[in-house]
Amino acid sequence: MGLHGRIVRQLGARLPSALLRPLAGPAAVFFHGVELNVFDPDLQSNHHQIQDFYEIALALKLEFDVAPLSALPDVLASPRRHRRTVFLMSDDGYANTLSVVAPMLDSLGLPWTLFISTEHIDSGLRNPIFLARLFARYAPDGRYPLRCFRDPLVLAGSRRYATREFLKRFRPLGLDEARETVQEMVAVLNKHGLSELLMRYQSDSFLNWDDVRALAQRGVTIGAHAHCHWPMHEQENPYNLRQQALRARQRIESEIWPCRHFAYPFGNTADVCARAWQAVRDAGYEYAFTTLSGSLDRSTNPWLLPRYGLGPSEPNLASTVSLLRLGNARLARWQRYLN
Ligand SMILES: [Zn+2]
Repeated sequence: MGLHGRIVRQLGARLPSALLRPLAGPAAVFFHGVELNVFDPDLQSNHHQIQDFYEIALALKLEFDVAPLSALPDVLASPRRHRRTVFLMSDDGYANTLSVVAPMLDSLGLPWTLFISTEHIDSGLRNPIFLARLFARYAPDGRYPLRCFRDPLVLAGSRRYATREFLKRFRPLGLDEARETVQEMVAVLNKHGLSELLMRYQSDSFLNWDDVRALAQRGVTIGAHAHCHWPMHEQENPYNLRQQALRARQRIESEIWPCRHFAYPFGNTADVCARAWQAVRDAGYEYAFTTLSGSLDRSTNPWLLPRYGLGPSEPNLASTVSLLRLGNARLARWQRYLN
């Protein structure tokens, strides 16, 4: 979660929701997966504990009008008429969205949207950042001369520190270099029990296309989360940016039905460049979501809409969502910068 999201949550914990209600605007909120048992929060950082998520879902049902994404044009056109409207979204396409999330949200009657990274649905290959965390944690002590880094990666001692430092170097890579690095990491881990590790962390396995179709048939809106789960940042080349947007839409449309919505992987200021949102627009999407906090209104660029990342637990969700509008000035500055 970004700094702004954390500030809004802390303020929300201090202020009563009734007081904030007049401030509220419509908003989009998102999560990733939900697990029966998150036994390793460092590696399973994308997943909510089931009980915590149930409480969030219940608060959404009781405090807000949770709407399907088809209502978005109407909400953007007249946000004041939709102060309590929330759009609920899940990113990436984890297998537990079918086994755990769908039954829960169905039982509460909450509509939601799933943004999938289509290459992972095609191949089953895990998220590159998850693989990097797995590598930094479980590769044996040693020096790893990865081709895309000037200095070898040294793994010894505190793996928590090593993971943080490694991710700082890994995430700015372009997609081609990231893929190459993933291959190198997988080659090392293959000799050190990768298949057992993937079994242990089933939480991070992806849906396949039959699963996605099953969700679509239950009424879940399917959107695109790029082809590969990788940032669409300034370091990326124009061809890859176009392909990330276009390929995801083509895959969803050939497997399911027309796809009009996009969410940027990671989606914060360092992860989305001007060429990225233009590529998303040019690929034919009508709306795209970032992960900057804010409320939805007609002044925003439709390909750079705000979205709030739900924390592991949200005891003051009604206040927090009412305060999201505080992020709008920063969002507007960023949109101007990317224009
Ligand atoms: Zn994601």
